[in-house]
Amino acid sequence: MFDRFFPTYDFPHAYDITPEFLQAEGVRAIISDLDDTLTCHDSQELAPEYRAWLDRIAAAGIRFCILSNNSEERTRPFCDRNGLDFTAHARKPLRRAVLATVERMGITPDEVLLVGDQIFTDILCGKNAGIRTAAVKPIGNRATKFIAVKRFLERPIWRAYFRRKEDK
Ligand SMILES: [Mg+2]
Repeated sequence: MFDRFFPTYDFPHAYDITPEFLQAEGVRAIISDLDDTLTCHDSQELAPEYRAWLDRIAAAGIRFCILSNNSEERTRPFCDRNGLDFTAHARKPLRRAVLATVERMGITPDEVLLVGDQIFTDILCGKNAGIRTAAVKPIGNRATKFIAVKRFLERPIWRAYFRRKEDK
């Protein structure tokens, strides 16, 4: 019953998604959430392991774009400083902004992996757009009350997902 909320893949951190894995799965571009996926909520810091991961991804010829529901004021300084393309005010889980981003990147939805930490935002957005998803564990614990409520509601879905994964 929770199947439609399940991600295609799951990883502890974004930097665990290797170029080798992406190439084996036919992924040519990553579209990634920002808050709690690449850095803590509203943080402008990019930790060295994430910086190194972005460099490995780029060196492998895999394209990368941030897709954030957060404001341009929050997203732009982070992306400018780190040389990243971005879409802000994305209104995930709606699919419009992600599909526009895919088009702007000159690729097709089946070549994209959408990475994010929230089921009802990132994972559902991928489902709505017909794009594969990779769920990562949220980095920080500075989330808003609204996000905390969504995380609480995610719990039974995660339980069902990992139960299913163990059965395989
Ligand atoms: Mg997030």
